[in-house]
Amino acid sequence: MTTTLPAYDEVVARYEPVIGLETHVELGTNTKMFCGCPTDFGGEPNTRVCPVCLGLPGSLPVANKAAIEATIRIGLALNCSIAEWCRFARKNYFYPDMPKNFQISQYDEPLCVDGYLDVEVNGEMVRIGIERVHLEEDTGKTLHVGGATGRIHGATESLVDYNRAGIPLVEIVTKPIPGIGALAPEVARAYVTELRDVLRSLGVSDVRMEEGSLRCDVNTSLNLPGEEWGTRTETKNVNSLRSVERAVRSEMLRQAAVLDAGGRITQETRHFHEDTGDTTPGRSKETATDYRYFPEPDLVPLAPDPVWVAELKAVLPELPRLHRRRLQEAWGLSDLDMQSVLNAGAVELIEQTIAAGTSPAAARKWWLGELSRRANETGVELADIGATPTQVAELQSLVDAGKLNDKLARTVLEGVVAGEGSPTEIMTNRGLEVVSDTGALTAAVDEAIAANPEIADKIRSGKVAAAGALVGAVMKTTRGQADAKTVRELILARLGA
Ligand SMILES: [Zn+2]
Repeated sequence: MTTTLPAYDEVVARYEPVIGLETHVELGTNTKMFCGCPTDFGGEPNTRVCPVCLGLPGSLPVANKAAIEATIRIGLALNCSIAEWCRFARKNYFYPDMPKNFQISQYDEPLCVDGYLDVEVNGEMVRIGIERVHLEEDTGKTLHVGGATGRIHGATESLVDYNRAGIPLVEIVTKPIPGIGALAPEVARAYVTELRDVLRSLGVSDVRMEEGSLRCDVNTSLNLPGEEWGTRTETKNVNSLRSVERAVRSEMLRQAAVLDAGGRITQETRHFHEDTGDTTPGRSKETATDYRYFPEPDLVPLAPDPVWVAELKAVLPELPRLHRRRLQEAWGLSDLDMQSVLNAGAVELIEQTIAAGTSPAAARKWWLGELSRRANETGVELADIGATPTQVAELQSLVDAGKLNDKLARTVLEGVVAGEGSPTEIMTNRGLEVVSDTGALTAAVDEAIAANPEIADKIRSGKVAAAGALVGAVMKTTRGQADAKTVRELILARLGA
């Protein structure tokens, strides 16, 4: 399509966006949803399968209690009501990555309903309604080979791996989110970010978007002010936080161009392309009747004991938003300073560094200063920079003990990032320790005095400020390793000032 897209500001001046998000989370249980097969990532294709997850005739599923517990905890953290009785349902469709030709899911009786998640966007709180949280099983993976693009078009054959088939999958669906105008792309991103943090704090999934354990579909529609909501499209499998934001924005622009030209929006799924930031049409969207849902006859209904649910609720971890608020107070940071910690992805790193004995100010200095700078330069996430909170805490303890000054500490940190070992090892191996031993420094001091007789005379005559130049000379000959305070004292003592 060659249509010129309108400017974003014009689009949000004329249209009102409504978005909605459907997020799939692979749970980190040891076994699959309805059988005992292991769930760990990366085995040889079709080695983690059994008659149940291959859908062989006569096999019977048994629901995984750990997955049900994780789903209830997610529902509780999202302020949902937990069903006292609900059933699994069969969602019937044919696709080769689904060996049974139906997926066990939940339809009109989800486990958790009607909750919310508060997210902060540009300092404002936006409450996102949660429609439902339900439990289902993942599909296998198909690999199309022989073509240029890895897609089915042009491929000579397709391979299928059922290792993932049957892994417990939780689907979290928001209510439609109207009334956010130009902020729609940022709200979408903030929601997925906050949801990811909630799921991580619950310990129910490793929530890695790049590995597909957290996957997001984004619904977008536009309407004129005062009119009914428009037809929505569903952009599938957007696999990074940045892409969530880009997918909403690009779909808003595309739909506005269609509507401006007098066209109609087709209800369909669309694919987001990371490289161009565009979406292209997928299949036209099935409706619920196409799936011929009916209650799963091979599983008993789920009836979580309310006492058990209350127990799970009582021991939920502190929510990330409240946790961050508490840390901000404990660390004495302004909103702006806390925001820069968040933007750098440094909250947990700083928290762990402090837990290892460093002061909040020093922990923040290392992670937001030297280490953030290196992360930006090399384009890696701060958490993957190669230095751990324990190492940063050890580095600071060497500074506190006077064994490293700031400059030497930076050199040691370079070694840590390069994988040379612990700060103490690097300091020792590279001989970087501050020299404060007066015996060792006296020779360097005497040399500096001898080389600078005029400055020495000034100091003798009482111009103590001139000592700085001699301290500088000693620092130079000791490659920055002399303890400046000791050097100064030695100079003054030597010259009787
Ligand atoms: Zn199995």
